[in-house]
Amino acid sequence: MRLSVYGAAGEVTGSCYVLETARARVMIDFGLHQGGREEDEHNRTRVPPDLRRFDAVVVTHAHIDHIGRLPLLAGAGFSGPIYASDATADLIPIMLRDTARLQEADAARDLRRQGPEKARPALYTSDEVEKILPRVRRVPMQSLTEIAPGVKVRLVDSGHMLGSASIELRAADGPGTPERVIIFSGDIGPWGMPLLRDPRCPAPADGVKVDLAIMESTYGDRDHRPLGETVEEANNIVREATWDKQRLLIPAFAVGRSQVIVYYLGLIIQSGRAPRFPVYLDSPMAIEAMELYKRHTELLDADAHAQIQAGTFPLDIPELRYCRSAEESKRLNDASGALAIIAGSGMCNGGRIIHHLRHGLWRKDVQVIIAGYQAAGTLGRQLVDGAKEVRIFGDTIPVRAKVHTLGGFSAHAGRTDLIRWATDLHKAASPRQWILTHGEDRQRRLLGEGLAPILGQTPAMPAFADHFEL
Ligand SMILES: [Zn+2]
Repeated sequence: MRLSVYGAAGEVTGSCYVLETARARVMIDFGLHQGGREEDEHNRTRVPPDLRRFDAVVVTHAHIDHIGRLPLLAGAGFSGPIYASDATADLIPIMLRDTARLQEADAARDLRRQGPEKARPALYTSDEVEKILPRVRRVPMQSLTEIAPGVKVRLVDSGHMLGSASIELRAADGPGTPERVIIFSGDIGPWGMPLLRDPRCPAPADGVKVDLAIMESTYGDRDHRPLGETVEEANNIVREATWDKQRLLIPAFAVGRSQVIVYYLGLIIQSGRAPRFPVYLDSPMAIEAMELYKRHTELLDADAHAQIQAGTFPLDIPELRYCRSAEESKRLNDASGALAIIAGSGMCNGGRIIHHLRHGLWRKDVQVIIAGYQAAGTLGRQLVDGAKEVRIFGDTIPVRAKVHTLGGFSAHAGRTDLIRWATDLHKAASPRQWILTHGEDRQRRLLGEGLAPILGQTPAMPAFADHFEL
């Protein structure tokens, strides 16, 4: 059998793997490439062959760089099941509908600007999203489930976002032929973040050896700032801004980062160290995700459970206001006094945060808090890199707002946690071969150098369409 890498090879986005055995063809993740025009092109050109002929798809988690191209399967005539954890299955419609809307809006804008000759159509439409949603099937965490002839998967909590999983995949070419075991790390969360449980080791429960381990390497070159320091820095920024009646703009992924930020802003307000100020969650998607945190308390950590037992849900803070409609969002332009706006997208490459940045970046009484990964080519990356001016919707906007980058709120494990994860898996299941993906080349090379003495091998760093025989 053969495992091929069709995305996130030397880059962070576009995750996609294909396993082909003598009797089944399975895809693991089908994510969107995110960034600029080049990445957009890759969404159209770097696609596995024969999308129609897959028996099943399984996804690690609901981030768009892991599920964002599933609707292409609808267009190609795929009619098999798409397996996901319970919470991921709840998140997929929210995430994909939003992505289709953003793409349709981008395509319409492109058409106005470039004309019909040069304009690029949307990668897929809302209709294609609706066609793919009925294909989603729920698999329970922790138990082995057969998803295609001779192919079983077990999902294990990876501590990265609500419902996120590492996958243990077992496949046999035929009855009586030996099973091969592959571990997909998915995205690995950091240890010690609030709300979600820490990552669990996905080593097979029955002690069988792993043939191939495929591991993410997003932050393979460095550790994040310690969480405690980051929280203290956030405290100081928020206190200074709110005492000065300034506006805080916080681009954040709707699911995960937004909730962590709400959680910490709640703590700051409750501590009494800042004046009380409204926190606007300006994202219908993030609001829906808040509800899913309440529905999936089984995924929350011990501290969250202790709070729930005591009668309060960790994300219920009195200052929180929901902005559901675009009108409510626009009205925030006229609001005065100290306030915080949390809006998507997390990398500032779309969504309502763009409007807030357009109205706020040129102002000295605005502070921007960047608290997540910013892919190359995104507006968020330009801000992190200290751009003095940026282009938004064709206008040049000078950057006078203070831009802060907070390293410690990442939903991704830093280098030390990645090495911990790999060491645990190595000790429990000594994978025969290791592959690093989902990281820029520098990051995965440096992680590979750090792992080599522990694993007794230098992990492979596949390029697009490279494959591994098992
Ligand atoms: Zn992710």
